[in-house]
Amino acid sequence: MTTGSRDVVIVGGGIVACLTGYLLGRNGYKVTILEADSLGSHASGFAFGGLDPLTGVGIPFPLLEFSLWCYGRHRGLARELNDNTGIDVGFEFRDRLHLAFTQEEAAESKKNIEWMKDVGGFNVEWVDTKRAIELEPQVSSECIGALLEQSPGALEPYRFILAAMRAGERFGVELLQRRATGLITEGDRCTGVQLENGTISAGIVLLAMGPWTGLASEWCGVNIPVTPLRGQILRLRSENKALNMAVNYAHSYVATKTDGLIWAGTTEEEAGFDESTTSEARDSIMADFMKMIPGMDDAELVQQTACLRPLSADGMPIVDKVTGWDNLFVATGAGRKGILWSTGMAQVMFDLIDKGKSDVDGSDHLKLDRF
Ligand SMILES: Cc1cc2nc3c(=O)[nH]c(=O)nc-3n(C[C@H](O)[C@H](O)[C@H](O)COP(=O)(O)OP(=O)(O)OC[C@H]3O[C@@H](n4cnc5c(N)ncnc54)[C@H](O)[C@@H]3O)c2cc1C
Repeated sequence: MTTGSRDVVIVGGGIVACLTGYLLGRNGYKVTILEADSLGSHASGFAFGGLDPLTGVGIPFPLLEFSLWCYGRHRGLARELNDNTGIDVGFEFRDRLHLAFTQEEAAESKKNIEWMKDVGGFNVEWVDTKRAIELEPQVSSECIGALLEQSPGALEPYRFILAAMRAGERFGVELLQRRATGLITEGDRCTGVQLENGTISAGIVLLAMGPWTGLASEWCGVNIPVTPLRGQILRLRSENKALNMAVNYAHSYVATKTDGLIWAGTTEEEAGFDESTTSEARDSIMADFMKMIPGMDDAELVQQTACLRPLSADGMPIVDKVTGWDNLFVATGAGRKGILWSTGMAQVMFDLIDKGKSDVDGSDHLKLDRF
Protein backbone atom coordinates (compact mmCIF):
# COMPACT_ATOMS: atom_id res chain seq x y z
CA MET A 1 0.00 0.00 0.00
CA THR A 2 1.26 3.47 -0.81
CA THR A 3 -0.49 6.38 0.84
CA GLY A 4 -0.61 9.75 -0.97
CA SER A 5 1.97 12.47 -0.41
CA ARG A 6 1.71 14.81 2.58
CA ASP A 7 3.53 18.05 3.41
CA VAL A 8 4.60 16.65 6.78
CA VAL A 9 4.54 13.09 8.10
CA ILE A 10 4.98 12.83 11.87
CA VAL A 11 6.19 9.47 13.16
CA GLY A 12 4.67 8.83 16.61
CA GLY A 13 1.37 10.06 17.99
CA GLY A 14 2.19 11.29 21.50
CA ILE A 15 1.38 14.75 22.82
CA VAL A 16 4.41 16.37 21.16
CA ALA A 17 3.33 15.00 17.77
CA CYS A 18 -0.36 15.87 18.18
CA LEU A 19 0.28 19.46 19.26
CA THR A 20 2.82 19.99 16.47
CA GLY A 21 0.34 18.50 14.01
CA TYR A 22 -2.33 20.87 15.26
CA LEU A 23 -0.10 23.94 14.78
CA LEU A 24 0.97 22.79 11.31
CA GLY A 25 -2.60 21.92 10.25
CA ARG A 26 -3.92 25.25 11.48
CA ASN A 27 -1.35 26.94 9.29
CA GLY A 28 -2.32 25.10 6.13
CA TYR A 29 0.09 22.14 6.09
CA LYS A 30 -1.22 18.72 5.05
CA VAL A 31 -0.16 16.52 7.95
CA THR A 32 -0.32 12.79 8.67
CA ILE A 33 0.52 11.38 12.09
CA LEU A 34 1.61 7.73 12.15
CA GLU A 35 0.85 6.03 15.46
CA ALA A 36 1.78 2.38 15.96
CA ASP A 37 -0.74 1.83 18.80
CA SER A 38 -3.84 3.71 19.95
CA LEU A 39 -3.82 7.43 20.59
CA GLY A 40 -2.77 8.18 24.17
CA SER A 41 -1.83 4.59 24.92
CA HIS A 42 1.66 5.46 26.20
CA ALA A 43 3.14 8.16 28.47
CA SER A 44 1.15 11.06 26.99
CA GLY A 45 -2.14 9.43 27.93
CA PHE A 46 -1.08 8.09 31.34
CA ALA A 47 1.06 10.86 32.83
CA PHE A 48 0.14 12.54 36.11
CA GLY A 49 -0.47 15.92 34.52
CA GLY A 50 1.43 18.23 36.87
CA LEU A 51 2.56 21.51 35.29
CA ASP A 52 5.37 22.84 37.45
CA PRO A 53 7.86 25.14 35.71
CA LEU A 54 9.98 25.67 38.84
CA THR A 55 11.31 22.17 39.48
CA GLY A 56 13.02 19.47 37.46
CA VAL A 57 16.00 18.76 35.27
CA GLY A 58 17.52 21.85 33.64
CA ILE A 59 15.65 24.25 35.96
CA PRO A 60 16.60 26.97 36.65
CA PHE A 61 19.53 26.73 34.25
CA PRO A 62 19.23 26.53 31.31
CA LEU A 63 15.50 25.79 30.99
CA LEU A 64 13.67 28.18 33.33
CA GLU A 65 12.76 30.61 30.55
CA PHE A 66 11.59 27.80 28.28
CA SER A 67 9.61 26.16 31.11
CA LEU A 68 7.87 29.44 31.95
CA TRP A 69 7.02 29.95 28.29
CA CYS A 70 5.51 26.45 28.16
CA TYR A 71 3.59 26.98 31.36
CA GLY A 72 2.27 30.35 30.17
CA ARG A 73 0.98 28.77 26.97
CA HIS A 74 -1.04 26.03 28.71
CA ARG A 75 -3.85 28.20 30.01
CA GLY A 76 -4.62 29.83 26.65
CA LEU A 77 -4.16 26.54 24.82
CA ALA A 78 -6.65 24.79 27.13
CA ARG A 79 -9.22 27.43 26.20
CA GLU A 80 -8.35 27.21 22.49
CA LEU A 81 -8.67 23.42 22.47
CA ASN A 82 -11.99 23.61 24.28
CA ASP A 83 -13.31 26.13 21.72
CA ASN A 84 -12.18 23.88 18.86
CA THR A 85 -13.27 20.52 20.22
CA GLY A 86 -15.56 20.92 23.23
CA ILE A 87 -13.03 18.91 25.28
CA ASP A 88 -12.13 20.39 28.65
CA VAL A 89 -8.53 19.35 29.34
CA GLY A 90 -9.02 20.07 33.05
CA PHE A 91 -6.45 22.85 33.34
CA GLU A 92 -6.41 24.31 36.85
CA PHE A 93 -4.11 26.09 39.26
CA ARG A 94 -3.16 23.85 42.10
CA ASP A 95 -0.95 24.80 45.05
CA ARG A 96 1.72 22.33 45.99
CA LEU A 97 3.57 21.38 49.18
CA HIS A 98 7.01 19.77 48.90
CA LEU A 99 7.43 18.04 52.25
CA ALA A 100 10.71 17.64 54.12
CA PHE A 101 11.25 15.02 56.82
CA THR A 102 14.93 15.64 57.56
CA GLN A 103 17.11 18.71 58.01
CA GLU A 104 19.00 17.79 54.82
CA GLU A 105 15.75 17.68 52.82
CA ALA A 106 14.67 21.01 54.30
CA ALA A 107 18.04 22.62 53.51
CA GLU A 108 17.85 21.33 49.91
CA SER A 109 14.37 22.86 49.44
CA LYS A 110 15.29 26.15 51.10
CA LYS A 111 18.28 26.57 48.78
CA ASN A 112 15.85 26.99 45.89
CA ILE A 113 13.56 29.55 47.53
CA GLU A 114 16.07 32.35 46.85
CA TRP A 115 15.71 32.19 43.08
CA MET A 116 12.13 30.83 43.01
CA LYS A 117 10.68 33.78 44.89
CA ASP A 118 11.89 36.15 42.16
CA VAL A 119 9.99 34.31 39.45
CA GLY A 120 6.97 36.45 38.61
CA GLY A 121 3.49 35.07 39.19
CA PHE A 122 4.47 32.44 41.77
CA ASN A 123 4.57 32.72 45.51
CA VAL A 124 7.15 30.34 46.96
CA GLU A 125 7.90 30.20 50.67
CA TRP A 126 9.00 27.87 53.45
CA VAL A 127 6.18 26.90 55.85
CA ASP A 128 6.52 25.11 59.19
CA THR A 129 4.67 21.89 60.07
CA LYS A 130 1.75 23.72 61.70
CA ARG A 131 1.17 25.89 58.63
CA ALA A 132 1.58 22.92 56.27
CA ILE A 133 -1.17 21.08 58.19
CA GLU A 134 -3.42 24.16 58.12
CA LEU A 135 -3.04 24.24 54.35
CA GLU A 136 -3.56 20.50 53.88
CA PRO A 137 -4.82 18.82 57.04
CA GLN A 138 -3.97 15.33 55.78
CA VAL A 139 -0.19 15.79 55.44
CA SER A 140 1.95 13.97 57.97
CA SER A 141 2.68 15.73 61.26
CA GLU A 142 6.09 14.01 61.09
CA CYS A 143 7.22 16.43 58.37
CA ILE A 144 9.48 19.20 59.63
CA GLY A 145 8.12 21.76 57.17
CA ALA A 146 7.45 22.20 53.48
CA LEU A 147 8.15 24.36 50.51
CA LEU A 148 4.85 25.91 49.47
CA GLU A 149 4.49 26.68 45.78
CA GLN A 150 1.49 28.79 44.74
CA SER A 151 0.16 28.24 42.07
CA PRO A 152 1.56 25.83 39.54
CA GLY A 153 -0.95 24.05 37.31
CA ALA A 154 -2.33 20.65 36.45
CA LEU A 155 -4.38 19.09 33.66
CA GLU A 156 -5.72 15.72 32.57
CA PRO A 157 -3.20 14.27 30.07
CA TYR A 158 -5.57 11.83 28.35
CA ARG A 159 -8.10 14.56 27.61
CA PHE A 160 -5.25 16.84 26.54
CA ILE A 161 -3.98 14.45 23.87
CA LEU A 162 -7.51 13.69 22.64
CA ALA A 163 -8.25 17.40 22.35
CA ALA A 164 -4.94 18.12 20.58
CA MET A 165 -5.60 15.39 18.01
CA ARG A 166 -9.23 16.32 17.48
CA ALA A 167 -8.33 20.00 17.08
CA GLY A 168 -5.75 18.98 14.47
CA GLU A 169 -8.35 16.89 12.64
CA ARG A 170 -10.50 20.01 12.28
CA PHE A 171 -7.64 21.41 10.22
CA GLY A 172 -7.18 18.28 8.11
CA VAL A 173 -4.54 16.46 10.18
CA GLU A 174 -4.99 12.71 9.74
CA LEU A 175 -4.07 9.95 12.14
CA LEU A 176 -3.01 6.64 10.59
CA GLN A 177 -2.64 3.67 12.86
CA ARG A 178 0.57 2.34 11.31
CA ARG A 179 4.03 1.46 12.58
CA ALA A 180 6.93 3.15 10.79
CA THR A 181 9.90 0.90 10.11
CA GLY A 182 12.34 3.22 8.34
CA LEU A 183 12.87 6.23 6.14
CA ILE A 184 12.87 6.48 2.35
CA THR A 185 15.71 8.74 1.30
CA GLU A 186 17.40 10.36 -1.70
CA GLY A 187 20.79 11.84 -0.83
CA ASP A 188 20.28 14.18 2.13
CA ARG A 189 16.50 14.30 1.62
CA CYS A 190 13.86 12.15 3.19
CA THR A 191 11.14 11.47 0.65
CA GLY A 192 8.90 9.33 2.79
CA VAL A 193 8.46 6.79 5.52
CA GLN A 194 8.55 3.03 5.26
CA LEU A 195 5.60 1.38 7.01
CA GLU A 196 5.13 -2.21 8.12
CA ASN A 197 2.93 -2.71 5.08
CA GLY A 198 3.59 0.07 2.59
CA THR A 199 5.08 3.52 2.31
CA ILE A 200 3.96 7.10 2.65
CA SER A 201 5.53 10.01 0.76
CA ALA A 202 6.39 13.18 2.62
CA GLY A 203 7.79 16.64 1.97
CA ILE A 204 9.08 16.75 5.54
CA VAL A 205 9.42 14.01 8.18
CA LEU A 206 9.31 14.61 11.93
CA LEU A 207 10.48 11.90 14.35
CA ALA A 208 8.40 12.24 17.56
CA MET A 209 8.35 8.65 18.78
CA GLY A 210 8.90 9.44 22.45
CA PRO A 211 11.25 6.90 24.08
CA TRP A 212 11.38 4.90 20.83
CA THR A 213 12.97 7.82 18.94
CA GLY A 214 16.43 6.52 19.78
CA LEU A 215 15.67 3.52 17.53
CA ALA A 216 15.44 5.92 14.56
CA SER A 217 19.17 6.68 14.97
CA GLU A 218 19.75 3.66 12.72
CA TRP A 219 17.28 4.96 10.15
CA CYS A 220 19.05 8.30 9.72
CA GLY A 221 22.64 7.49 10.75
CA VAL A 222 22.64 10.21 13.44
CA ASN A 223 22.74 9.43 17.15
CA ILE A 224 19.52 10.57 18.86
CA PRO A 225 20.41 9.85 22.51
CA VAL A 226 17.01 8.97 23.97
CA THR A 227 16.17 5.95 26.13
CA PRO A 228 13.06 4.81 28.04
CA LEU A 229 12.65 5.51 31.76
CA ARG A 230 9.71 3.63 33.21
CA GLY A 231 7.36 5.35 35.64
CA GLN A 232 4.39 3.89 37.51
CA ILE A 233 1.34 5.50 39.08
CA LEU A 234 -1.33 4.14 41.46
CA ARG A 235 -4.94 5.31 41.31
CA LEU A 236 -6.57 4.84 44.71
CA ARG A 237 -10.00 5.25 46.25
CA SER A 238 -10.38 6.56 49.79
CA GLU A 239 -13.36 7.56 51.92
CA ASN A 240 -11.25 10.40 53.35
CA LYS A 241 -11.69 13.95 52.13
CA ALA A 242 -10.16 14.97 48.80
CA LEU A 243 -6.72 16.59 49.08
CA ASN A 244 -6.74 20.40 48.79
CA MET A 245 -3.31 20.51 47.27
CA ALA A 246 -0.76 18.46 45.40
CA VAL A 247 1.76 17.02 47.85
CA ASN A 248 5.31 16.06 46.87
CA TYR A 249 8.09 14.24 48.64
CA ALA A 250 11.44 13.47 46.97
CA HIS A 251 10.49 12.09 43.52
CA SER A 252 6.98 11.06 44.64
CA TYR A 253 3.70 12.95 44.57
CA VAL A 254 0.03 12.61 45.35
CA ALA A 255 -3.10 14.58 44.45
CA THR A 256 -6.83 14.10 44.10
CA LYS A 257 -7.58 14.17 40.36
CA THR A 258 -10.76 15.20 38.57
CA ASP A 259 -11.96 11.56 38.46
CA GLY A 260 -12.23 11.77 42.27
CA LEU A 261 -9.38 9.26 42.72
CA ILE A 262 -6.11 9.81 44.51
CA TRP A 263 -3.20 9.45 42.08
CA ALA A 264 0.12 8.59 43.68
CA GLY A 265 3.45 8.21 41.92
CA THR A 266 6.05 7.49 40.93
CA THR A 267 9.13 5.46 40.05
CA GLU A 268 12.16 5.95 37.82
CA GLU A 269 13.16 2.55 36.46
CA GLU A 270 15.54 1.47 33.74
CA ALA A 271 13.56 -1.47 32.37
CA GLY A 272 14.13 -1.17 28.64
CA PHE A 273 10.87 -1.02 26.67
CA ASP A 274 8.97 -3.11 29.24
CA GLU A 275 5.73 -1.33 30.16
CA SER A 276 4.57 -3.87 32.78
CA THR A 277 3.49 -2.85 36.25
CA THR A 278 5.35 -4.43 39.17
CA SER A 279 4.61 -5.20 42.80
CA GLU A 280 7.93 -3.59 43.84
CA ALA A 281 6.80 -0.27 42.34
CA ARG A 282 3.38 -0.58 43.98
CA ASP A 283 5.01 -1.10 47.37
CA SER A 284 7.50 1.74 47.02
CA ILE A 285 4.83 4.22 45.84
CA MET A 286 2.51 3.12 48.68
CA ALA A 287 5.34 3.63 51.19
CA ASP A 288 5.93 7.23 50.02
CA PHE A 289 2.17 7.87 49.87
CA MET A 290 1.70 6.67 53.47
CA LYS A 291 4.68 8.75 54.56
CA MET A 292 3.07 11.89 53.06
CA ILE A 293 -0.61 11.20 53.89
CA PRO A 294 -0.65 8.63 56.73
CA GLY A 295 -4.36 9.04 57.49
CA MET A 296 -5.41 7.58 54.17
CA ASP A 297 -4.75 4.03 55.27
CA ASP A 298 -8.16 2.97 53.92
CA ALA A 299 -6.99 3.69 50.35
CA GLU A 300 -7.90 0.91 47.93
CA LEU A 301 -5.95 0.30 44.75
CA VAL A 302 -8.18 0.86 41.71
CA GLN A 303 -5.59 0.86 38.93
CA GLN A 304 -1.82 0.69 38.51
CA THR A 305 -0.26 2.02 35.32
CA ALA A 306 3.24 1.94 33.90
CA CYS A 307 4.67 3.79 30.92
CA LEU A 308 7.92 5.02 29.49
CA ARG A 309 9.30 8.53 29.61
CA PRO A 310 11.57 9.60 26.74
CA LEU A 311 14.81 10.42 28.54
CA SER A 312 17.56 12.22 26.62
CA ALA A 313 21.21 11.83 27.64
CA ASP A 314 21.08 15.11 29.63
CA GLY A 315 17.38 14.91 30.60
CA MET A 316 16.39 17.91 28.49
CA PRO A 317 14.29 17.96 25.33
CA ILE A 318 15.64 17.72 21.79
CA VAL A 319 13.78 19.81 19.21
CA ASP A 320 15.79 20.36 16.05
CA LYS A 321 16.45 19.55 12.44
CA VAL A 322 18.48 16.32 12.27
CA THR A 323 22.12 17.09 11.54
CA GLY A 324 23.06 16.52 7.89
CA TRP A 325 19.48 16.18 6.65
CA ASP A 326 17.58 18.69 4.58
CA ASN A 327 14.03 17.91 5.70
CA LEU A 328 14.22 15.53 8.68
CA PHE A 329 13.32 16.84 12.14
CA VAL A 330 13.20 15.44 15.67
CA ALA A 331 11.18 16.36 18.79
CA THR A 332 11.58 14.13 21.85
CA GLY A 333 13.42 13.63 25.15
CA ALA A 334 11.14 15.51 27.57
CA GLY A 335 11.55 12.96 30.38
CA ARG A 336 9.40 13.76 33.43
CA LYS A 337 8.16 17.07 32.03
CA GLY A 338 6.78 16.24 28.60
CA ILE A 339 3.23 17.38 29.36
CA LEU A 340 4.48 20.75 30.60
CA TRP A 341 7.09 21.15 27.84
CA SER A 342 4.87 19.85 25.01
CA THR A 343 3.45 23.32 24.31
CA GLY A 344 6.91 24.83 23.79
CA MET A 345 8.33 21.82 21.97
CA ALA A 346 5.44 21.91 19.49
CA GLN A 347 5.78 25.65 18.94
CA VAL A 348 9.56 25.43 18.41
CA MET A 349 9.08 22.51 16.00
CA PHE A 350 6.42 24.40 14.08
CA ASP A 351 8.67 27.48 13.86
CA LEU A 352 11.67 25.46 12.63
CA ILE A 353 9.59 23.80 9.92
CA ASP A 354 7.77 26.97 8.93
CA LYS A 355 10.51 29.59 9.09
CA GLY A 356 13.76 27.84 9.99
CA LYS A 357 14.09 29.44 13.45
CA SER A 358 12.15 29.95 16.65
CA ASP A 359 11.77 32.88 19.04
CA VAL A 360 10.36 30.78 21.89
CA ASP A 361 12.33 31.68 25.06
CA GLY A 362 15.20 29.28 25.64
CA SER A 363 14.64 27.30 22.44
CA ASP A 364 18.37 27.45 21.60
CA HIS A 365 18.97 24.98 24.48
CA LEU A 366 17.05 22.22 22.70
CA LYS A 367 19.51 21.53 19.89
CA LEU A 368 20.55 18.02 18.89
CA ASP A 369 24.19 18.98 18.27
CA ARG A 370 24.73 19.73 22.00
CA PHE A 371 25.50 16.01 22.43
C1 LIG B 1 4.41 7.95 35.30
C2 LIG B 1 4.62 9.19 34.50
C3 LIG B 1 4.15 10.41 35.01
C4 LIG B 1 4.35 11.59 34.28
N1 LIG B 1 3.89 12.76 34.80
C5 LIG B 1 4.13 13.93 34.16
C6 LIG B 1 3.68 15.14 34.71
O1 LIG B 1 3.04 15.18 35.75
N2 LIG B 1 3.96 16.30 34.04
C7 LIG B 1 4.68 16.30 32.88
O2 LIG B 1 4.92 17.38 32.34
N3 LIG B 1 5.11 15.13 32.32
C8 LIG B 1 4.87 13.96 32.93
N4 LIG B 1 5.32 12.78 32.42
C9 LIG B 1 6.15 12.80 31.21
C10 LIG B 1 5.33 12.82 29.94
O3 LIG B 1 4.29 11.89 30.03
C11 LIG B 1 6.21 12.47 28.72
O4 LIG B 1 7.41 13.23 28.73
C12 LIG B 1 5.47 12.80 27.43
O5 LIG B 1 4.18 12.23 27.44
C13 LIG B 1 6.24 12.29 26.22
O6 LIG B 1 5.47 12.59 25.08
P1 LIG B 1 5.97 12.18 23.63
O7 LIG B 1 4.96 12.69 22.67
O8 LIG B 1 7.39 12.64 23.45
O9 LIG B 1 6.05 10.59 23.66
P2 LIG B 1 4.96 9.41 23.86
O10 LIG B 1 3.81 9.84 24.66
O11 LIG B 1 5.74 8.23 24.32
O12 LIG B 1 4.45 9.15 22.39
C14 LIG B 1 5.26 8.52 21.42
C15 LIG B 1 4.36 7.71 20.52
O13 LIG B 1 5.11 7.23 19.40
C16 LIG B 1 4.59 6.00 19.03
N5 LIG B 1 5.60 5.27 18.24
C17 LIG B 1 6.80 4.82 18.67
N6 LIG B 1 7.46 4.20 17.65
C18 LIG B 1 6.65 4.30 16.57
C19 LIG B 1 6.77 3.83 15.22
N7 LIG B 1 7.86 3.19 14.79
N8 LIG B 1 5.75 4.10 14.36
C20 LIG B 1 4.63 4.76 14.78
N9 LIG B 1 4.46 5.19 16.05
C21 LIG B 1 5.47 4.96 16.93
C22 LIG B 1 4.27 5.31 20.35
O14 LIG B 1 3.30 4.28 20.17
C23 LIG B 1 3.78 6.48 21.19
O15 LIG B 1 2.37 6.58 21.21
C24 LIG B 1 5.07 11.56 33.07
C25 LIG B 1 5.50 10.34 32.54
C26 LIG B 1 5.28 9.16 33.25
C27 LIG B 1 5.75 7.86 32.67
